[in-house]
Amino acid sequence: MLNLILFGPPGSGKGTQAALLVDKYGFLHISTGDLFRSEIGNQTDLGLLAQSYMAQGKLVPDTVTIDMLRKKVEANPEVTGIIFDGFPRTIQQAQALDALLAERSSEVTALLALTVDEDEIVQRILNRAKTSGRSDDADEGIIRDRIAVYENTTTPVFDYYEERGKSFRVKGMGSIDEIFARLSAIIDHIHTAAQKL
Ligand code: AMP
Repeated sequence: MLNLILFGPPGSGKGTQAALLVDKYGFLHISTGDLFRSEIGNQTDLGLLAQSYMAQGKLVPDTVTIDMLRKKVEANPEVTGIIFDGFPRTIQQAQALDALLAERSSEVTALLALTVDEDEIVQRILNRAKTSGRSDDADEGIIRDRIAVYENTTTPVFDYYEERGKSFRVKGMGSIDEIFARLSAIIDHIHTAAQKL
């Protein structure tokens, strides 16, 4: 069981790359942002709660997010691998993920962090806003707030897994294909190493 965390600031291409990785490796893709947007679309209580945070570029509270993530993982016991996209975003979420996987005699295999310059990120998100319909993509102030949340609250998750020898930086600039090739090279390496164990 391969559990990969696709990491990086908003707009770093996690969603795009996750979709390509799912095609290639057949893993389950879990994006907490997508799950929240689906709850909002269905106007559930969870969606209404999440929306109030998302609209301001703030994180949805850990307890709510962890509970939603747990349900999604538990609903898919047969998968050979999972790509976590946009989760964990706090140390508390990372600890909860470790505990959840440990219950399944599994663990985080690696965290792959896409690195992108801040100005490029803002441009990419403003561009995405033209088609995504996301209000949190359309306002430069909210985008900068989301980047600040990433830097202050989420980057410690990189360090958390780095201390465990699991974090890798991947250059997230260049074409989609180039970035995909970089990610695939690391995953193939990890895969081969895991099969030799
Ligand atoms: P994303 O689609 O990953 O850019 O997430 C969009 C928004 O959803 C974020 O700005 C947060 O408000 C919320 N969100 C997504 N994932 C999480 C998470 N793991 N923890 C807390 N909030 C999250």
